Amino acid sequence: MAYKFKGNLCINLKLTCETGLHIGSTQENYEIGGVDNPVIRDPATDLPYIPGSSLKGKMRSMLEWERGLIELKQDKERNLKADPHTCEKIDCPVCRIFGAPAEKSAPKGPTRVIIRDAYPDDKTQEIFEEIELKKGLPKTELKWEVSIDRVTSKPPHGPRMIERVPKGSVFDLNIIFGLYDIDDNIADLNYLKYLFSALGMVEDSFLGGSGSRGSGRVSFKIEKLLLKTPEFYTGKDAYEILSQDLPTNPQDIDYKKIVEEIRQKIL
Ligand SMILES: [Zn+2]
Repeated sequence: MAYKFKGNLCINLKLTCETGLHIGSTQENYEIGGVDNPVIRDPATDLPYIPGSSLKGKMRSMLEWERGLIELKQDKERNLKADPHTCEKIDCPVCRIFGAPAEKSAPKGPTRVIIRDAYPDDKTQEIFEEIELKKGLPKTELKWEVSIDRVTSKPPHGPRMIERVPKGSVFDLNIIFGLYDIDDNIADLNYLKYLFSALGMVEDSFLGGSGSRGSGRVSFKIEKLLLKTPEFYTGKDAYEILSQDLPTNPQDIDYKKIVEEIRQKIL
C-alpha cells in the first residue's frame, strides 16, 4: 500500500475552561508545603498548560466508547478496568486517526492527528498574574474536596486540596490533521468527521481530573482552518477553509462543506 502526503489541515482553536480544570502533575518536583494535587506547569514560565497528550487521550477514549470498542474487565480486586483499544484494521477510525496508544506498538500507516500542548492566551496570562498579585495564589485556584462518611457525616480522611486552572481561562490550541492518499482516493477525508465529533464529545464530558466532582468542563471554538498542501512547504500560500463561517463550535461545524472545499483544493 502506497501512502502519498496530500496536505495538513491546521486547526486553530480556543479552548475555554467553563469550570475549574485540573490536569495533574507529579508532586516530586513541587515545593514542600505546596498543594497536594498541583496542576501541570511549563517549567520555563511557571504557567499552567494543557498537554496535547491529555486532550488526545481523552478524545481517543470518547471515540472508543462511541464506536463500541471498550471492553470492561474485572481485575483481582474486582475493580472494572479497560485497556486502550488497538487493532490493525485500516478502516478503524480510532487507530487510523489517533494511532496506537502510548503503551502499545504503532499500527501500520502514519498517525493522522497531532495535538500540540496548549498555552494560556495573552489575556488569560494577565488574569493569572492578577490572581497572584491580588490574592497571593499560585496563578490558579485552590479547591478543597471532602468525601463524607455516610454514617458519621464526617470526612473519613480529612479534606484534600486540589489546584485548578480557574473558570474562564482560555488556551490557544493547535491540532494538525495529516491527509494521505492511499491508492488514489484520499479516503482520509472521510475520517475528518471523527476528529470534530471527538471534540464535541469532550465538551459534553470533561478533561483532566475530578470530572465527576464538577471540574474539567471545556468548550472549543474553531478560529481558523488552514490547508497546507505540499506546495505550501515550498513557498505557496496556505488555503483558508470555511473562512466565511468561522469561528464556530465543533458541534456546529459544517463538516461536509470542509471536506468538499479540501477535496477541490487537493484533487
Ligand atoms: Zn482500531
